This record gives sequence, C-alpha cells and structure tokens, in this order.
Amino acid sequence: MKDTILSVRGLRKHFTASRGFPRATTVTIRAVDDVSFDVGAGESFGIVGESGCGKSTTGRAILRLIEPDGGTVRYRGIDVLAAPPGALRDLRRRLQIVFQDPYSSLNPRLKVGRALAEPMRVHGLAKSADEIDARVRALLDEVGLPPDSADRFPHEFSGGQRQRIGIARALALEPELIVADEPVSALDVSIQAQVLELLRRLQAQRGLSFVFIAHDLGVVRYFCQRLAVMYLGRIVEMGPAADLFSDPLHPYTRMLRDASPVPDPAMRGRLPRIEGETPSPAAPPSGCHFHTRCPNVMPVCRERYPSAVEIGTRQVSCHLYGTSAT
Ligand code: SF4
Repeated sequence: MKDTILSVRGLRKHFTASRGFPRATTVTIRAVDDVSFDVGAGESFGIVGESGCGKSTTGRAILRLIEPDGGTVRYRGIDVLAAPPGALRDLRRRLQIVFQDPYSSLNPRLKVGRALAEPMRVHGLAKSADEIDARVRALLDEVGLPPDSADRFPHEFSGGQRQRIGIARALALEPELIVADEPVSALDVSIQAQVLELLRRLQAQRGLSFVFIAHDLGVVRYFCQRLAVMYLGRIVEMGPAADLFSDPLHPYTRMLRDASPVPDPAMRGRLPRIEGETPSPAAPPSGCHFHTRCPNVMPVCRERYPSAVEIGTRQVSCHLYGTSAT
C-alpha cells in the first residue's frame, strides 16, 4: 500500500433502542465494533457487506457525521475525533462524502449552480463571483453535465445526473479523500457503469483516495484496490480486492462473491443467492456472528469469536484458519 493517509483503529459505535411491548427493554446495537483499517494515498478502499452490517455507520463515523463511541481516526496524523472546531472545519473540506441518494441531500429549492457555489463561498475558495461562476462551470464539465445545469433545479435531472451533481458538490471543496456511500446502488446497471467510470477518471486525474461503501462485491471489485468485508459490525476479512474475489477465505466473503451479479444476462439467476437472513444486530449470535448461516460451522464457532489472523496479504477472522479466540 502507498503512504497511509487515513488510519482507523478500534472504531466503535453503539446505539441503544427500546424493544418490546407493553414492557419495553433497552437493547444495545453494536453497529460498529472494533473496526480497524488503513487507506493509502490515491487508494480506493472498499467496505462491503449486507444492509445493517455497519458499513455506512463506519463511513459516517470517520467523518464525524455521527460521533463514534471509541477508537481513533487519524487523517495525515491529525486526530479527527479530537479535532477542535477550527481543525475540524479544515478536515471537513479535505474529507468529503457522496451519498447513495444525492436528491435527499440536495436542497430542492436551490439551483444546482448555487448548491455548488455555496461551499466554495463558505470556505473562501474563490475570491470573486466570477471566479466562483467559472469554477462551477468547470466542475459541471468535469462530471459530464452541460453548463446550463447550473440554472436548473435538482428535480429536473435523472438519477444518474443527480449523482453527478452529488459528486461535483463533493469535488467543489477540492477534497483529498471521499467517502462514497453506496454511490451507484440506486442506479440502473448501465448508469452504474458510467458513474463508476467517472469516479475512476476523477481518481486518476485528481489523485483522490476513496472509502467506497457497497453491498455488492462485484461493484467494488473493479473500483477498489483493497477491501474489507463487514458482518454485524465487524470486519471478517480484509485484503487485496482481486484476491478476495478470486479466492475468498472467509465463508461469508465466498457467499457475497457467489451472489454478486454478473454482466452476462444469460448467467443471471443461475448463481446461488446469499443464504439465510442477517441476524438482528441487537442480538448477534454467540461466538462467530456468522455461525447461523455458515456452511462450515463447527462447535467452537458457537462459543468463541475468532481472532483475526494474518494470511499473506490478508486478514481473516474465522476458526477455519486456526485462531485463538478472544
Ligand atoms: Fe463459519 Fe466458524 Fe468461520 Fe464463523 S468461525 S465463518 S461459523 S467456520
């Protein structure tokens, strides 16, 4: 990996919720539990898993859009979680997010040009109205939208175009790292490919780093150099994307790989689906959280959570690989 710019260690975010009627009890949901990874300069690091695995919470906690309960996040050596307001403001410029549904994050009453210009004004990135105007038009061009897009409202655009606006807005502050939270999962397959191609081009041209969050291993495979697979709040396997896809070690990674859509329409529907329901994060199974769905389950799996072990360039948490439990 190239020089590490983002270092996440032991990240933790728990939520509490009331369950039951008429006598409600409080339960703890361990949305993110002891998550650690690094992202290199210019690298795309993927976080993959099914809905509820904690991947989006991880992305938001890194940016402090929600406050983590524990762990550390360092960006170029700066302690993000302890940053005072002034330093946090600068970090918020350098670390941006692209959401799954940009429409919900765009003000419907604000024309696109103004939505792009506002953050530049707030952060003092341009000196005059003319300069801001020129930068807005250059941004629109960079993401493949016509110049007159600046004078239109968000509802006048298609889903793919709105995602391009979301990307342009993230780029407006000239970030160094972007958390892309399911940026293509709401789009048609053909549009997905175009948006992924745009992100890839921007990464190459601007030297951006990405934390790319997705539920589909096939999508991240082509965009990310390294991947972490999450299950019920924890990373179960991490390593080079090509290796995880061609030779998954963890049974859950294998399940995700086998269920990932294939481009060949003739093959669609012939691949196995992911077996079983994801257990509630409020009541994760004992031992290895995946044991209720795992085809390789052993007695020890129900009793002890497997420690992470290093296997070559990979890290995996599974008793199949001779761990000592914690
Ligand atoms: Fe399956 Fe056991 Fe490995 Fe968990 S620890 S993934 S249950 S073999």
